Amino acid sequence: MDKLDLKALGKINLGLDVLGRRENGYHDVRMVMQTIYLYDQIRIEKAKEPGIQIYTNLFYLPVNENNLAYRAADLLMKEFGIKEGVKITLDKHIPVAAGMAGGSSNAAAVLYGINRMFSLGLTQKELMVRGVSLGADVPYCIMRGTVLAEGIGEVLTPLAAMPRCYVLIAKPPISVSTKVVYEKLDSHKIEVHPDIDGIIDGLKLHDLRKVAACMGNVLENVTIEEYPVIEDIKKIMIREGALNAMMSGSGPTVFGLFDDKRRARQAAFGIKERQLARQTYVTSVHNARRR
Ligand code: ATP
Repeated sequence: MDKLDLKALGKINLGLDVLGRRENGYHDVRMVMQTIYLYDQIRIEKAKEPGIQIYTNLFYLPVNENNLAYRAADLLMKEFGIKEGVKITLDKHIPVAAGMAGGSSNAAAVLYGINRMFSLGLTQKELMVRGVSLGADVPYCIMRGTVLAEGIGEVLTPLAAMPRCYVLIAKPPISVSTKVVYEKLDSHKIEVHPDIDGIIDGLKLHDLRKVAACMGNVLENVTIEEYPVIEDIKKIMIREGALNAMMSGSGPTVFGLFDDKRRARQAAFGIKERQLARQTYVTSVHNARRR
C-alpha cells in the first residue's frame, strides 16, 4: 500500500460541562461528542526521500512539527523506526480554531493511516493511548460517533447513536483561543451546569427533541461575552426552525440541529445575508464508529 485516502471528520459538542481544573492546568470535563459529516480529505503517500512533508490548501497552517498531522506521523515513525518518508496532503474544510477538533481529527486520521500503511499492528486502544499525547480530543476522533468524554476528554464511553438530523454549521470570521476561553472560565463561577444526563437519556430514547432541549455548553457565555455575534447566529437559527442551536467547544462555531433540510438552508442564507458568517455548511450527523 503506497497511498491512502482518508476522511478526517469534524465534531460538535451536544453538551460540554467543566467539573474542575487540575494542578497542571487541564480541566476535567463531561462532554457529549458527536461526529458530523464535514471533513478534511487526507492523502498519505509513501515517499522515497526520508522525512515527513506536509502540503495543505490553507496557506496559514504550519507544515512543520507544529502541524498535528506531522506530529502524529512523527510519533509512530520514530517509535517503529520507519526509514521511508511520507507525504501528507491536507485538503482542509473543517473550520480552523473553531471548536470542531479539526487538528485533532487530522492527527487521528494520520495515526490510523500510518498504522495501516506500514502494517504496525496497533489496536484502536493502542492508537488512542498514543493519540492523547497529541491532544485531549484525539482519542475521540479515532473512535468517532456519539460518545461521552470525561477526564480531560480521553475517558470515552460510547452512547446510543444520535437520531438522524441535519446540522447547520456557521463559523463567524473570528478566531478563538481554547486556552484563553478556559482561563476566563476559571475566573467565573459556574452557576448553571448543562444537563448532560438529560442528553444521554434523550439518546437512549432516540428522542431528538429531548436531546436538543437538553443541549448546553458551559463555555458559551464566556465566548459570547466577547463575541455577541455568536448569540446573533443562534437567534437566526432558532427563528428559522432549529430544534436548538449552540456554540461548539470553545467556539466560535455555532451549530443548529434541524429536522428539515430546507429550513437549515434558509437559516444559512439568513446568516450569510447578514454577514454574520462566511463559512456555513448544511451537513448531517455521522454515527459510524471507526473499525
Ligand atoms: P478543538 O475543538 O480541539 O479545540 P479547534 O477547532 O479549536 O480544536 P484546530 O482547528 O484543531 O482547533 O486548530 C487549532 C490550532 O492548531 C490552529 O491555530 C492551527 O494553527 C493549529 N493546527 C496544527 N495542525 C493543524 C491541522 N492539521 N489542522 C488545523 N489546525 C492545526
